[in-house]
Amino acid sequence: MPGPRRLGLFGGTFDPVHIGHLTAAEAVRQALRLDAIWFLPAALPPHKLEYPISSFADRLAMLELAIGGRPACAVSALEAELPKPSYTIDTLRELRRQLGPLVELFFIMGLDAFAEIDTWKAYNKLLSLASFAVLARPSHPLATAEAIIKRCFVDFCHDPVAQVWIAQERPGAIHVLNMEPVPVSSTAIRQVVRNSGSIEPLVPAAVAAYIRDHRLYLA
Ligand code: ATP
Repeated sequence: MPGPRRLGLFGGTFDPVHIGHLTAAEAVRQALRLDAIWFLPAALPPHKLEYPISSFADRLAMLELAIGGRPACAVSALEAELPKPSYTIDTLRELRRQLGPLVELFFIMGLDAFAEIDTWKAYNKLLSLASFAVLARPSHPLATAEAIIKRCFVDFCHDPVAQVWIAQERPGAIHVLNMEPVPVSSTAIRQVVRNSGSIEPLVPAAVAAYIRDHRLYLA
C-alpha cells in the first residue's frame, strides 16, 4: 500500500490527549485534504519541564486508545528514539529522511504554541521541512495569528485566494484554519481528575478508564 502523500503531524505532550486534539486533527485533515495524521508525543518536551509529566508509555497508551476507530490516524513513538529534549526540528529532519522529499508534511499546532514559535530550536528552518496548520484556542483567537507571522516570518504574505501565508522562493506555507476553538486543555483535565470530577466527554471513554485504572493525575 502506498504511504501518505499529504501527512499531518501533531506534536505535543498529550498528558492526556483530549477531544480538543482529536477534533482539531479531524478538522485539519478535512480542511487540508490530508491522507493521514500522525500523533507524535514528545519524549521530553522542552517547554514543559516545569511540572512532572506522565511517563511516555502512559501518554503513548492513551493516544493509542484515543485514535482507536480512526483509520486516518496513527501514533508515532519516534521522539522516544531521538535525543532529548524533543525538538520539533530534529523530529522533522528525521521524518524527512525516512519519508523522502515527495511526502508533503503539515505540522499542526494550536495558536498558543505558535505564539511561542520563535523560542523553538531553529524555528526559521521548520518551514523548509513542513508547512504549518495553525488553530485557534480560546485563549488565543485567530486574529492574533497575523501579528505572530509578521513578527516571526517577515517574508511571508497572505494569499487571500488560497487562504494561506506564503513566501516567495521559500518552501512551506502557514495555514491559519478558521475553526471554532474547542475549550479543553490537558491542564484542565488534570485539574478535574485531582478534584475527583468526571472527565468524560472531555476525553474518550477508553482514555478516562486508563486514567482511572492507572491512577494518573491524583497527586
Ligand atoms: P497543557 O494544558 O498541558 O498545556 P494542551 O491541552 O495544550 O496541554 P498539548 O499536548 O500541550 O495539550 O498540545 C499539543 C498541541 O495541541 C499544541 O500545539 C496545542 O496548541 C494543541 N492543542 C491542544 N489543545 C487544543 C485544542 N483544544 N484545540 C486546538 N489545538 C489544541
